[in-house]
Amino acid sequence: MYSDVKDYCSRYNVTLVVVSKTQPAEAIRRIYDLGQRIFGENRVQELAGKYEQLPKDIKWHLIGHLQKNKVKYIAPFVEMIHSVDSLELLMTIQKEALKNHRIIKVLLQYHIAQENTKYGLSEEEGNKLASFFQKENMSHVQICGVMGMATFTDDEAQIRREFQQLLSIFNHLKETVFYQDIYFKEISMGMSSDYKTAIEEGSTMVRVGSAVFSS
Ligand SMILES: *Cc1c(COP(=O)(O)O)cnc(C)c1O
Repeated sequence: MYSDVKDYCSRYNVTLVVVSKTQPAEAIRRIYDLGQRIFGENRVQELAGKYEQLPKDIKWHLIGHLQKNKVKYIAPFVEMIHSVDSLELLMTIQKEALKNHRIIKVLLQYHIAQENTKYGLSEEEGNKLASFFQKENMSHVQICGVMGMATFTDDEAQIRREFQQLLSIFNHLKETVFYQDIYFKEISMGMSSDYKTAIEEGSTMVRVGSAVFSS
């Protein structure tokens, strides 16, 4: 239920991204009317359609895999992209944000799960990308932190270890590359099944869908 998740997140000062994928506009509108303004979608087309239908003060986050050729459809309005997993994608976001006279916030998505089906950077790839970013003049993207998804498992110890791994990646980047960057502060981890664990392990931003929309 929305109010439970929201209260939990505010108690811990964690940003709640309500994941509204597959939900119709009316269902999103109901949560909006309760005060929620940050919503996350994982598909570009669905996101662009909902942007058209819903109030313009919603901050839309893209949380799913993003292809370079689709950045242009969301660049005019997207607030944050959680799924940056290559330099090419980052450069495309910079280009499209510039065209739209906007600054787009992004997170670097890391592969922390055991499954090989999930997208994301290795620690080494992320380090390279971050130092490249620091050298280039990427005026229209702001790297705000990291994102990751834990393995889909009942093994809480494993989930915890994966969240700890993401926290340690964040801390390393903060100390080595982004130490003067006040915007680099977000750790996007935790979904319906594991957001409380994620918050215990240092999450600053949780992405919760089913737990919000179920009654
Ligand atoms: C669907 C999705 C979520 C939310 O999942 P729930 O289990 O419904 O809370 C979070 N993050 C990503 C990347 C997703 O695709």
